[in-house]
Amino acid sequence: MSAIPVTIGRRAALSLDSTPVPAGSPLVDTHGRVHRDLRISLTDRCSLRCTYCMPEQGNEWLAKTSILTLDEIELIARVAAADGITTFRLTGGEPLLRTDIVEIVRRLAAIEGPDGRPVEIAMTTNGIRLPEVLPGLAAAGLGRLNISIDTLRRDRFHELTRRDRLEDVLEGIAAAAASGLRPLKLNAVAMRDVNDDELVDLVEFAIAHDAQMRFIEQMPLDAGHTWDRSRMVTQDEILGALAQRWELTPVPGRGGAPAARWTLDGGPHTVGVIASVTAPFCGDCDRLRLTADGQLRNCLFSTTEYDLLPILRGTSGEWEQDIDGMLRACVRGKLPGHAINDPSFLQPARGMNAIGG
Ligand code: SAM
Ligand code: SF4
Repeated sequence: MSAIPVTIGRRAALSLDSTPVPAGSPLVDTHGRVHRDLRISLTDRCSLRCTYCMPEQGNEWLAKTSILTLDEIELIARVAAADGITTFRLTGGEPLLRTDIVEIVRRLAAIEGPDGRPVEIAMTTNGIRLPEVLPGLAAAGLGRLNISIDTLRRDRFHELTRRDRLEDVLEGIAAAAASGLRPLKLNAVAMRDVNDDELVDLVEFAIAHDAQMRFIEQMPLDAGHTWDRSRMVTQDEILGALAQRWELTPVPGRGGAPAARWTLDGGPHTVGVIASVTAPFCGDCDRLRLTADGQLRNCLFSTTEYDLLPILRGTSGEWEQDIDGMLRACVRGKLPGHAINDPSFLQPARGMNAIGG
């Protein structure tokens, strides 16, 4: 089946496409961007309730029956790898809440691209449960870890995540630092009057753990729709605060990476900033997203989704071909950039925990 989507409300439906692309060729969009990175959200559930991501209560969870199974995830990943995806980043919600997480990593890490090279498996996690599962994950083929930590102060952490679990996160980071997985990255959303006085401390903490600190501009993706541009800490402000302590020199050759990087006092340590709001990097975006309930998305901020569930749970018998068609439809529908800075911008219905960061 070859297909292009027609947006109907939040989801995309299929219609015939007159220009089919053979399965196995790269996923190139109409703006020439080649897609290499698939972010796979494994669950919308989480052990924390970060204010910028989830509501404290009343979250509308995805139906358990709609959550992709291990076999379904593997099938989609196999087709994506054949189409040139080289990195799978596992995220959520909290990916370590999946009881089959080690098996997911094992199955995905065994996939090879058309050139015979194994794909790369990365994970973004809040770090809770990491000491327990990291040996299994590493043995299964996990290649890289990003761990989120917004503050080093227990009272702030409790307030910000609505859970008193800073110690668990710190233990997770210590386990990651002790493992051989590198580069290790730590992520913090910079927030005014919440943690903007800790930026230097967080970088020093990262350096002490042989990790790279990355600050993220807060994006309008909270489930409560409370984002306020005037409250956002910008890349310029972040760099201004760090420049009080270090001499910052831009690192050239960012490629498709979301973070722009600077060396600290000439290196070797660096800091990254993901400035999706004030310095969007859409022109180099090589990412697609798969939600835990089988929706393909071509942008964090898109309001259109491409539903793989009817294919996966249907009886066509041509699952690979149909998934390939949907991947291509999703890529073809990608806009040149997000519109956060447009007055007409509409926040996606899903919060970040249900899209996958
Ligand atoms: N639970 C895992 C974690 O926190 O690392 C993985 C999922 S979380 C949605 C992935 C990343 O998205 C985290 O680094 C988190 O800080 C970031 N994030 C969530 N909501 C955000 C927002 N509104 N703006 C910017 N980053 C956000
Ligand atoms: Fe959970 Fe990650 Fe969202 Fe925090 S940012 S609530 S840890 S999914």
